[in-house]
Amino acid sequence: MVANSTVANTQPKRFSIGIIGGGIGGVAFAVALSRDSQLDVQLFEAAPQFSEIGAGVSFGPNAVKAIQLLGLEDAYQRIADSSPAPFEDVWFEWRRGSDDAYLTASLAPGVGQSSVHRADFLAAIVANLPEGIAHFGKRCVKVNQDTDSATAFFDDGTHFTGDVIIGFDGIKSAVRHHVLPPEQYGEIIPFWSGTYAYRGMILTRNLEVALKAKGSERRLALVPQMYLGKDRHILTFPVKQSQLVNVVAFMTDRSTPHPQLPEGEEWVKVVTQAEMLDVFEGWSPACQAILECISEPTRWALHELPELARYHRDRVLIVGDAAHALVPHQGAGAGQALEDAYVLASLLTDESCHRHSVPNVLAAFEQVRRARTCKVQRTSHEAGDVYEYAGVGIGDDEAKLIENLETRFDWLWNHDPHNDVVAARRRLASHSLA
Ligand SMILES: Cc1cc2nc3c(=O)[nH]c(=O)nc-3n(C[C@H](O)[C@H](O)[C@H](O)COP(=O)(O)OP(=O)(O)OC[C@H]3O[C@@H](n4cnc5c(N)ncnc54)[C@H](O)[C@@H]3O)c2cc1C
Repeated sequence: MVANSTVANTQPKRFSIGIIGGGIGGVAFAVALSRDSQLDVQLFEAAPQFSEIGAGVSFGPNAVKAIQLLGLEDAYQRIADSSPAPFEDVWFEWRRGSDDAYLTASLAPGVGQSSVHRADFLAAIVANLPEGIAHFGKRCVKVNQDTDSATAFFDDGTHFTGDVIIGFDGIKSAVRHHVLPPEQYGEIIPFWSGTYAYRGMILTRNLEVALKAKGSERRLALVPQMYLGKDRHILTFPVKQSQLVNVVAFMTDRSTPHPQLPEGEEWVKVVTQAEMLDVFEGWSPACQAILECISEPTRWALHELPELARYHRDRVLIVGDAAHALVPHQGAGAGQALEDAYVLASLLTDESCHRHSVPNVLAAFEQVRRARTCKVQRTSHEAGDVYEYAGVGIGDDEAKLIENLETRFDWLWNHDPHNDVVAARRRLASHSLA
């Protein structure tokens, strides 16, 4: 391994891994790998420090399982919120946005709504990262490789050469360009889903007062809620031991099949409360109460990636949002990044994995993960349609809507990522016998 002007490493190691991107996925992955003292693990983050936005993130049972398998359960449980009794198993209650009428609830037995404040979660996993692994101000601009090694180049003129490069660098990934060269795969550009998401956090006690003033139940502040309507929906769930309520209010342009973001518009901007209230004019008293508590919303133009033809090229792999960025309608993107982190770390820390077999290991990872992550992308987009009365074969038929909401997450949640590890090992074993 050569670690030109970036990292000096003297101990002999089985092989070396460069991780590009220190978001939730990249850091969890680095923590899992760094427990194997035979690996040289280096993480390169573009920002001057680890950082996450001050919003909530919710995890389904599959993601909570991945967190346990990654050995991060204690760190997670210290900060995680769950639904209060007797709603422990409720992921979300679903209501009609025009009048707050209860439609149904999606239940995740034993887990319910498991959510955290993003910044708290990142800090909790960073606390498990050994000293000296993370390098900041390292924006990857290019990756290349030869038969024996892969190199990431950074915008400060330094580079890292190792046996493997893993791109955990998010939706605008620089590593993706190397894995899917435009000459062969065309230019892969994240596209706008047609949906804007207005986000805000509210002090729970303020929301309770506001709901009461509108004659709405207190439960709406404490139990996760989704309010549904045509081309719009609003979600709320508590974070920070229920001191705060995380709010996301979505509106979608379905007037054309391929909506375009106005030229030059930023993906994220601060907008006025009046704009948001206007979008939800005529919605229920509870929805008005929620939105009136957010004085300075941010508006996110939600982007996603097309399903990619591949995630790996020899010694280089993309994972997390870099490979399968999706819309957040199933609360699944960070969960998929954590599943990726667990499965990949398990395969790379396997004693049989060495610098020459790494390309086969990355290929086996892609073979067992790609179909699932593509399906999560696809169904996340469809979920937005279902919630906004535009689901194919469902529309505004509430009976069909309820039936769909009660079962649509089962396949996603009832997945043990360890089975992916087993499947990949089986493939590798049959490959080595061939
Ligand atoms: C409104 C909204 C709500 C969401 N809610 C949920 C939810 O409830 N549950 C859920 O599971 N998911 C949710 N998601 C999705 C989730 O946030 C992402 O799927 C998840 O953050 C992806 O993690 P990641 O580590 O792959 O990428 P990121 O979190 O994007 O991290 C990428 C990291 O790489 C760094 N980086 C980028 N480019 C470079 C470069 N060239 N060189 C070096 N470093 C680089 C970045 O600075 C960043 O630190 C939501 C998303 C949105 C937009």
